Amino acid sequence: MERGITPAGASLRNASFACFGSVTEILSDIDSMGSEKALQLVGMRFEGLRILQKILAAAPIDFTICKGYELLADEQKLNRIGTLNEWLYLITGSPDTFTLASDKIESFGFNGVSHLIENRFEGSLHPGKLLNSLWQLAVRTGVQFLFDTEIKEVEETPDRIKLVTQNGPALYAAQIVYCTNAFSGQLLPEVDLVPARGQILLTAPIPALKFNGTFHYEEGYYYFRNLGDRILLGGARNTSFQTEYTLDAFTSLPIQQALERFLSTVVLPGQQPQIEQRWAGIMAMGKEKMPIVEQLTARSFCALRLGGMGVALAPVVGRTVAELMRKG
Ligand SMILES: Cc1cc2nc3c(=O)[nH]c(=O)nc-3n(C[C@H](O)[C@H](O)[C@H](O)COP(=O)(O)OP(=O)(O)OC[C@H]3O[C@@H](n4cnc5c(N)ncnc54)[C@H](O)[C@@H]3O)c2cc1C
Repeated sequence: MERGITPAGASLRNASFACFGSVTEILSDIDSMGSEKALQLVGMRFEGLRILQKILAAAPIDFTICKGYELLADEQKLNRIGTLNEWLYLITGSPDTFTLASDKIESFGFNGVSHLIENRFEGSLHPGKLLNSLWQLAVRTGVQFLFDTEIKEVEETPDRIKLVTQNGPALYAAQIVYCTNAFSGQLLPEVDLVPARGQILLTAPIPALKFNGTFHYEEGYYYFRNLGDRILLGGARNTSFQTEYTLDAFTSLPIQQALERFLSTVVLPGQQPQIEQRWAGIMAMGKEKMPIVEQLTARSFCALRLGGMGVALAPVVGRTVAELMRKG
């Protein structure tokens, strides 16, 4: 069941990085969550991307391993890359998941960047094509979708679940799984989850764009990539956390200005390219970064709080909740 005529959540509004974490973000998670949980999360994302590549191997989702990079303004975190690579060996199977590529800074044309870290496993995809291909795959296996169907209330009795819809008749199910992510507050007010808005801008084509790939900055709070010869740039939530804890999927001037400042100082120094599109989407965050995948009642389950890398995380989250439902 989906309340939108097409999916109306983050999945169609994201930056479509096929990523599992940059060095500074993983290190920050290790410091706040502990290495075991932080690496478990990285492993779930890495595996999720492999599942996507496997189940949609022949599907036109524009999945490319274009390489990911992190821009660093100083060398504070560099001495931890060796240890991080050792830990990541168990996940990626490579002794050098992250390597220094600072020699590329000049050719990419960045300003104010002293080091560049390369991740040769990172890529990108097309979120609309991904959703369309997943939908087709699900339909082929017998799944029925009801769009434009908002669930207003859920009532559980020992033998079934009743779903009260916004406009249509009530629906009945043996089991349900809540995949409502940031929008879960009304149906599941007790769940530890806050909506977090992410904003993006897309430039007009840039003649002779110098870089190709996905890029992270400041623990992933800024991210950009080339989309053909355009730049897709998002983030800056860390410049105004409080205003961005919202369910309003609109862009705001302060965040868009912060993105444009970053664009014309770091990414394309001295240039102010035309911005052709701006949009916002809502992620789900919480006190913890781990997704919530649980059995809630005898007949209901949830797969929520996918954070800022839910494209990668979703396949493992989906598989886990399916296993729980089979047992339940
Ligand atoms: C700006 C932005 C950039 C991002 N960039 C990336 C990225 O580059 N890489 C990455 O991996 N992740 C990225 N993410 C995160 C990623 O998009 C999300 O983690 C992921 O899409 C979450 O998927 P979901 O299915 O859990 O939630 P959603 O896609 O939000 O889906 C929840 C759905 O539930 C529906 N719904 C809610 N309530 C009801 C109801 N009562 N009845 C019926 N339907 C309901 C909503 O309409 C919605 O379609 C980004 C997110 C944003 C916002």
